[in-house]
Amino acid sequence: MKEFSITDIPEFSNKDRIVVVGVIGKSPHRYLNKASPLVNSKVSEDNGIQCCWDEGQSILYLHATTFLDTDRLCALVEDLNENSKSTVKDADAAHWLVASGELTIDSCKIMALMFQLCHIVVLSSPTPVFDLGYLQLFKAIDAYRNELSGQIEGALIEAGVSDTWESRGRFCCPRLLFHFRRAPTPLRKNPAGLKRLEHAIEDQIYFILRKSRVITNVCAKSIFAIPKNEEFVYISAEDNNNARDVSSLVRGLVQLCNGTQDEVSTRPTFSQFLQTHLDVAFEEGFDDNVGKYAMSTSFFELPSAKSWSVVAKALVPVYLSESIAPNEDRDDYGALFDSLATDVRFSKARCAKVLPIAQASYAEGLPSHYSSQHHAHKVNVALGVVEAMARGPLAGGARARLRTACAATWRTRRLCEAPSLTSHPCINPDHDNSKEHSSGVRYISACNCGRSKCSREDPYTVKAANHTFYSHAGEECGVCNTLQSVAFPVFQPSTPSYRAASLKSSSEETQDRPETRIEDGSGNSPDASPRSEGWSQPDELSPGSAKDEDDDEPTCNDEALDVMPVREEAVTEKVISRQPSTTEYLPGMLHTHSPAGLLPAFSSWSLVCLGPSSLYSHNMGLPEHLQPGFLPHTNYLLPWDCAVRMEHANVWRTSTRGRGKGGVPHNITVKIFIGFEYECPRGHRFMMSSPDTVMNGGGVSWGREGAGPTSGAAGARLAASEMPLYVPCLCRPSAMLAQLIRLHVVTPKSSVHITLAPKVQPVLGGPIFVPQPETEGPLKLSSSAYWILRLPYIYADERGPIQRPRTSAAHVGSMLTPLFGLQE
Ligand SMILES: [Zn+2]
Ligand SMILES: [Zn+2]
Ligand SMILES: [Zn+2]
Repeated sequence: MKEFSITDIPEFSNKDRIVVVGVIGKSPHRYLNKASPLVNSKVSEDNGIQCCWDEGQSILYLHATTFLDTDRLCALVEDLNENSKSTVKDADAAHWLVASGELTIDSCKIMALMFQLCHIVVLSSPTPVFDLGYLQLFKAIDAYRNELSGQIEGALIEAGVSDTWESRGRFCCPRLLFHFRRAPTPLRKNPAGLKRLEHAIEDQIYFILRKSRVITNVCAKSIFAIPKNEEFVYISAEDNNNARDVSSLVRGLVQLCNGTQDEVSTRPTFSQFLQTHLDVAFEEGFDDNVGKYAMSTSFFELPSAKSWSVVAKALVPVYLSESIAPNEDRDDYGALFDSLATDVRFSKARCAKVLPIAQASYAEGLPSHYSSQHHAHKVNVALGVVEAMARGPLAGGARARLRTACAATWRTRRLCEAPSLTSHPCINPDHDNSKEHSSGVRYISACNCGRSKCSREDPYTVKAANHTFYSHAGEECGVCNTLQSVAFPVFQPSTPSYRAASLKSSSEETQDRPETRIEDGSGNSPDASPRSEGWSQPDELSPGSAKDEDDDEPTCNDEALDVMPVREEAVTEKVISRQPSTTEYLPGMLHTHSPAGLLPAFSSWSLVCLGPSSLYSHNMGLPEHLQPGFLPHTNYLLPWDCAVRMEHANVWRTSTRGRGKGGVPHNITVKIFIGFEYECPRGHRFMMSSPDTVMNGGGVSWGREGAGPTSGAAGARLAASEMPLYVPCLCRPSAMLAQLIRLHVVTPKSSVHITLAPKVQPVLGGPIFVPQPETEGPLKLSSSAYWILRLPYIYADERGPIQRPRTSAAHVGSMLTPLFGLQE
């Protein structure tokens, strides 16, 4: 036998009349060749049609290998397992549903070509059961053949075949024979029973095919015909060609060796069964019309080997062309897709129905404008609808289309949602810069002097937070603006075309830092000195002198109490910095790393003098009509009995190195009241008595003019503490954070002046904010007066605002020490 593939047909014979027999169907598992015993050659490992030419009998056998063959399907499944790396179950299932349709389509194309090119087609089945699934395939093949009829006709004209062949599209209506490869075990040794079974199956198959209109009275209209008077079902009873059955092979071997023969079967072999049909084909040809059409002769032609190969070459590309990949934009994928890709078509129809429902559930009850959060929620609701109702491989695409549609709806109705400096979204419909943002959130804050409480809008700019609100509040208060205040240096434009300075990155700024340090080191500014120099710690004092002081000052015996040296007036010695720029202002707020010569456009700080120190009575605390909004028992300042050593700063310095060489220092005690005030977003105000304790009463107990041994010491400890910038408010400790906003200082009636060097570091390791350039020296407070330093509401450097903490868990910012100093 001469073998070749249908895609590569050689000149295999010169015969004028040949019969073509095709084998389609399913091969048994592990037994690949369903065409045996007609063709015994090795089966191709790819899908396609294998041709075997029998020159002696003038028969061309075509063997179709498709995914219907169990072996091919097993190979495919193994590949699927290996390549299946996707972890998305849904995607895998979807791919398989798409793929199974495509695989069936491929099988049907091959089978359709077989019906086109054969006189006899044998449908081979591994079991004695007719697979009803073939009905769907036959209908699909029929539709496919009709779809291709135009192309087939063109190809036949090109090939130059006979007129009948050309007009009918084929040389005959092929006969379909059924070969069941395994008989039911009880019937194997029962030829008569097997014969009855064959006839019963014949009746059933004929009935089924008729009912489903796969075969009709007129052969020309069907893809195949069933012979009306001949047997067309054969069930193999012999097991000797069953390679799986080792026992039968062994039995056969034993029989051969013994020389005994198996009892001669009265049944014809499959080859003999087929031969009866071949004989008809070679002689009168098939005439399978029935009913009133039985009289009309059907067309039947035996082609020459040459013309058959010409036609086959022309038709192979027509039938086996690549199918269109199904995507959602097309409706026409061909007859095979419509009949066979059931899962995909169902999924498509289902998704098309669900999508409008899902979109409607998104649109239901939508406000005219809404936030991204609401949008996300509604999308999830709509996706839930798809999830519940959409099915199959196209559900993923439906989800994507739903998201797109929802996003398009939202785009026209979205809110601005620009975050405020306190992280609340703007509630206005999406707008451009011509309109101001507004989060709708309102806070309560006191004015600079603390006398009146005002409602404030959620700030969107640092200027609104730290400057504009307080000037409005000052107008409402009526007192703020009349008070003596310290004006912090701000940018003064000399030209109308001033602008923000462009600053180098922070890493470069830090390199400038050492120079500033060196400059300051020559001066006497306490800021530049390390902490231990500004404060003489108790252990730096000699025990002897400390004892002397104890005798004079009973309030100084506490170890925690520090003795503060009084410095010379440093302001006169301050380094004259270069004149600040009048064309460029400092973006953001002033901090210790800000470049010299640049000033902010507005001041974020305020320092006002409420009046004489007599405004504060330690028995009464801060009265509600002067400082409203304090939580009960928290409206007290803390007294600080400060031991002051009246001596020249330089003398003090030498005395730390060689103590006792200088004269006996002259010490006095001054009484200062200090208070660190915190304000929560609801306007609650309270003082803290230590970094982690809220002030609780104390006016009476501490009112005994310093009699208590701890009274002055607590104040000293407070003065030396780094107070946190944010603490939980008493109103809702878990949620509300109160911010350090005011520093109250009641200065003593004394020749020494209290100085303040406020430095706030909102983030650990971040910039340290100061109210004025460090070269200006500390702020000097007049004596016997009540001063209030109001701190910024929002901290922002040149890179933008610094995020406020959301919870109290993260202890971040603090007010750095040394804060207080003394000057003559
Ligand atoms: Zn906005
Ligand atoms: Zn005020
Ligand atoms: Zn509160």
